[in-house]
Amino acid sequence: MTEQQHTNRALVTVDLDAIRRNVALLSARAAASGAETMAIVKADGYGHGAAEVARAALRGGATWLGACSLNEALDLRAAGIDVPLFSWLETPDTDFAPALEAGIDVSVSSAAELARVADAAARTGRRARVHLKIDTGLSRNGCPADLWPALVKAAAAEPDVDVIAMWSHLAAADEPGDPSIDRQAERFADAYALAREAGLNPLRHLANSAATLTRSDLHFDLVRPGIAVYGLNPVPQHEELTPAMTFSSQVVLTKRVAAGESVSYGLTWTASEDTTLALVPVGYADGVPRTLSGRLDVWLDGRRRPVRGRVCMDQLVVDCGDDEPALGTEVVLFGTGSEGGPTAREWADRIGTIDYEIVTGMYRPRVRRVYTGGES
Ligand SMILES: *Cc1c(COP(=O)(O)O)cnc(C)c1O
Repeated sequence: MTEQQHTNRALVTVDLDAIRRNVALLSARAAASGAETMAIVKADGYGHGAAEVARAALRGGATWLGACSLNEALDLRAAGIDVPLFSWLETPDTDFAPALEAGIDVSVSSAAELARVADAAARTGRRARVHLKIDTGLSRNGCPADLWPALVKAAAAEPDVDVIAMWSHLAAADEPGDPSIDRQAERFADAYALAREAGLNPLRHLANSAATLTRSDLHFDLVRPGIAVYGLNPVPQHEELTPAMTFSSQVVLTKRVAAGESVSYGLTWTASEDTTLALVPVGYADGVPRTLSGRLDVWLDGRRRPVRGRVCMDQLVVDCGDDEPALGTEVVLFGTGSEGGPTAREWADRIGTIDYEIVTGMYRPRVRRVYTGGES
């Protein structure tokens, strides 16, 4: 690849101190009920960078890490991260041998998956560390209740398999009080009783971020917060979390346009009076959803300003009224919102999605990612 100039064209800045503080809050909540914290760093750390987030989370008090797939988990091992590490969603053609060799805990949802893990254990001579997953109502991954008694018996009978934990995932923990939460907790308790009857003594984990924040009775041995690690709050109540990701660019051109002139493809916005426009070189190829056209603000020179006309692939246009920002002035697309600027949550609300999708969508080849903090 050619030598790249590190310009601040499309820049994601990740505040590792914010991640450490967010995890400190979550792990203090968990510790209050005797639970440890598994920080979830799947999808490249929700778009923030898995290895960097993992190190910051461990400094904040996490003792486990969670990744979606074995490839993600192996990348963390390759980055030198040697703490307990769990990965839970593999394809039928995945070989579990590298997981066992790297000391990665794997999830098992079915007898067939158990057989494949046991086979890898026999081939490698390494004991497999398994977390059995019960489907308590999300109807996604996990063993259905009717197959669970056979699965726990089969797992208990496998000579090379250690059942470290049993676990499940909640469907609506972000709506505290939703009756599905208690229903899933009851099914989880029933499944635990069956595991004990089969002679197993597994750790238990169930809580995502929302349940870590709102349901201390469901913390069990380990909590699995993801989104809150990154400072995005999944529950209605206020929590002292700081969004870790800021997305910014800069002003590359300004121009005065006369009343009656229109802006960007389709000329969808027309100036009602003379105004100064600032050109910002980011667009939908950099993670600004085109569907935000006409309803997007940026933070520029200490205030919110509207983006006019359509968001293009590579650029957008900000209305600065009678202000004339200097070339190179920083433009914040979203960030902490602490001064009143836009947030990933605001983007999500405006286009009908969740902030999870906004931040995980920011890992793009054209977007430069830098880190601040993370020393202590
Ligand atoms: C993503 C995920 C989490 C974390 O969920 P958040 O809502 O981001 O806290 C926990 N467990 C599993 C199985 C997940 O897939």
